Amino acid sequence: MDNDKVKEGVKPTLCPTCGAKLDAATHAGTLDPELRPKPGDLTLCAYCDALLQFDDEGKPVLFDGRQLNERTKSRVELARARTRSFRALRRRGKGKGE
Ligand SMILES: [Zn+2]
Repeated sequence: MDNDKVKEGVKPTLCPTCGAKLDAATHAGTLDPELRPKPGDLTLCAYCDALLQFDDEGKPVLFDGRQLNERTKSRVELARARTRSFRALRRRGKGKGE
């Protein structure tokens, strides 16, 4: 099925928390468009901030962040702040002209 095709290193799936379609990822630390997620990399759902981890097929699955060290937890919280800012900007952008 074409909808299941892996693109940008992400196997399309639904967020296990909010049900949003997840089919792309942006690296939080670089603007390199060629960089792809690897199995074991962490990611956040851009719609609900759920902490997810890429499995061996490139599919983001729910991840229990309690086992992370403090440095990684603070990086996750920084990334969450960015996704919240991004959502706020998108909401403001959508509000224009309506
Ligand atoms: Zn979600």
